[in-house]
Amino acid sequence: MITRTLKEISKWIKIENEISVFNDAVISGVCIDSRKINSGNLFVPFKGENSDGHRFVEDAIKKGASAALWQKDVPNPPLHLPILVVENTLIALQELARNYRDALNVRVVGVTGSNGKTTTKDMTANLLSVKYKVQKTDGNFNNEIGLPLTILGLEEDTEIAVLEMGMSSKGEIDFLTRLARPEAAIITNIGESHLLDLGSREGIAEAKLEIMNGLQENGLLTYYGDEPLLNEPLTNYAGSSNIRTFGRSEKSDIFPVEIEQNDTGSIFKVNTSNVEFKLPVLGTHNVLNALAAMTVAGYFGVLFEKMNEGFAELKLTNMRTELLQGKKGEKIINDAYNASPTSMLAAIELISQLPGYKKKILVLGDMLELGPQEKEFHIKMGESIDSDKIDYVFTFGKLGECIAEGAKTKLADDRVFAFTEKLPLIEKLEKLVNEETIVLVKASRGMRLEEIVKALQ
Ligand code: ATP
Ligand code: MG
Repeated sequence: MITRTLKEISKWIKIENEISVFNDAVISGVCIDSRKINSGNLFVPFKGENSDGHRFVEDAIKKGASAALWQKDVPNPPLHLPILVVENTLIALQELARNYRDALNVRVVGVTGSNGKTTTKDMTANLLSVKYKVQKTDGNFNNEIGLPLTILGLEEDTEIAVLEMGMSSKGEIDFLTRLARPEAAIITNIGESHLLDLGSREGIAEAKLEIMNGLQENGLLTYYGDEPLLNEPLTNYAGSSNIRTFGRSEKSDIFPVEIEQNDTGSIFKVNTSNVEFKLPVLGTHNVLNALAAMTVAGYFGVLFEKMNEGFAELKLTNMRTELLQGKKGEKIINDAYNASPTSMLAAIELISQLPGYKKKILVLGDMLELGPQEKEFHIKMGESIDSDKIDYVFTFGKLGECIAEGAKTKLADDRVFAFTEKLPLIEKLEKLVNEETIVLVKASRGMRLEEIVKALQ
């Protein structure tokens, strides 16, 4: 993590008060939550609409922070303490990160896309760790605050940083990528998340492509080659970047051959190697995420033969396609972390393909923030369910009812149940499950379907 004197920092961010008596104080690490201060941290308060972090500055310093930022327009700065008065604390945090990044020798990988960023980030970091000292974004710290904090957490001797870049509107990835200046960039895919803000899938693709704006000259870009909205703008891309695609189809530079799925993950080969890869996470969508990670790791010189070492250590962050055991012996795929049409289709594909279960049940809830076409998206989702592969469909929520409506065009009426309360859903579901059952649970975060998962366990 960053370790610098206040004097050194004052060259990086514009400080508006006299700090010379504190010049030699050293900060190590940056923290934005006064409850989590570690000794030596720089505490960065934000002025929010409801609460104001400046109230905790004194407390943070008592707890061991060696200094704090202070936003100019907040009255009564405690000037007897080691505080650095700045125009805006968020901008100062970002400037600090920008300068620190520039001072480091680290090589950066940037990961964006609609679905699978965190997963791909984790996979990429694992593969690179076979050969390098790697640090990565903690959890989902992927925005205008999380990315600077991640950078400020980098050690001087870290060789590669794998950074997740998220967005909800235009211009955000542009900002993050210019700050991080990646040498390699991944666009996992284009889905429908944030459709409401960006208007169309084209708009989403444009926003993700902003990652190129900070990509270093001759840097690597790898993206999902089955997505026309990425292929079209990039096929004739005249920049000097090195572009590699991954995908399901043979048009991509790397694609899987012979995928075998089971309860513990996937075993697959790729077109460019004879190595058999063992991926301990479920679903073809995760094979695609793995291909992105493999492309980047390959660029950094990690051999295919070494990659299983990296995959073996893989642990996905909670609620992302986790396989759990239910009370009645049933298996549960907990994918309650979030949902959009792309990721829900991927999850349904996953459960459809898993061998060894006599009864397959979907528990699907609302996908939120899809804009004016939300009903159509849900009806189509229902219509996409294959009655040869799925035995029962349970839906939860108002939009979930549209999934049920679509599903009834495929499955018999007594196999599709729509609920707006969780308790009756759980009761009905528990009557159906046994050791030969697998249940997929998926919806947007706001639907809190993990409560159903808990009840089954
Ligand atoms: P967020 O925008 O919340 O940061 P993310 O892009 O980081 O999400 P992950 O957390 O890796 O994505 O995965 C979230 C969910 O997306 C998974 O649980 C899975 O259902 C789905 N998913 C992951 N990868 C893909 C993919 N390549 N294609 C489709 N769906 C995917
Ligand atoms: Mg994420």
